[in-house]
Amino acid sequence: MRTKIVAGNWKMNKLPSEAAALIDGIKDLVKDVQGVEVVVCPPFTDLKDAAAAVKGSNVALGAQNVAWAESGAFTGEISAGMLKDLGVEYVIIGHSERRQYFGETDETVNRRLKAALAAGLKPIVCVGEKLEEREAGQMPAVIEKQVKEGFADLSPEELAKIVIAYEPVWAIGTGKTATPKEAQEVHALIRRLLAEIANAEVATSVRIQYGGSMKPANAKELMDQPDIDGGLIGGAALKADSFADIVKAGV
Ligand code: PEP
Repeated sequence: MRTKIVAGNWKMNKLPSEAAALIDGIKDLVKDVQGVEVVVCPPFTDLKDAAAAVKGSNVALGAQNVAWAESGAFTGEISAGMLKDLGVEYVIIGHSERRQYFGETDETVNRRLKAALAAGLKPIVCVGEKLEEREAGQMPAVIEKQVKEGFADLSPEELAKIVIAYEPVWAIGTGKTATPKEAQEVHALIRRLLAEIANAEVATSVRIQYGGSMKPANAKELMDQPDIDGGLIGGAALKADSFADIVKAGV
């Protein structure tokens, strides 16, 4: 049985002085939740306050990116060791906004992923097709490339530690959600690809979140699908009550 995992991607929202209040609200609403892992991923500048705020709670802390190098001349980058030192447990890698605006490729995803795993961070790796790719019938090929190149040269043991987020780009921040059937089809495809590049055990055990305009009203029917193990939440993660309602939909 896979434990569901719901993670909030705050993107570039919330000042350092606002992070603790949002986390306090979330903590209070999810404190009795069992059987769903809860993660918040604030901006780097919020992480120190966020680490203090999540202490002793059932909310884990994640970051939104990580450098592939351990240290050195990489101006503007944040290393896995720096994140670990702050108490960060998870890290989002390869979000479509990083692919779209910041030159992220499957190769850089792979390098960041290796750095995160080497430091003991738990990666949440995002994959997903664009609207024009889906409409051209290219979704399976796009997902296969992202999975095979993003996860290249990893052992089954390393692959088993990864959380994958299937995020169709056309559903992110658009209010347009994939139907449970559409999402389930891709999650099943990702599991088949994991069986190919690792083995059946890894394919069965890896958690695959859905992301893309997930909200309280659609969370349960998405997470009820056999291969959907939680959600990566953008907009609805910025309010404690909507985020907590999504978490509870996964119970
Ligand atoms: C995301 O940024 O990962 C995301 C899914 O955003 P939203 O929920 O706002 O579509």
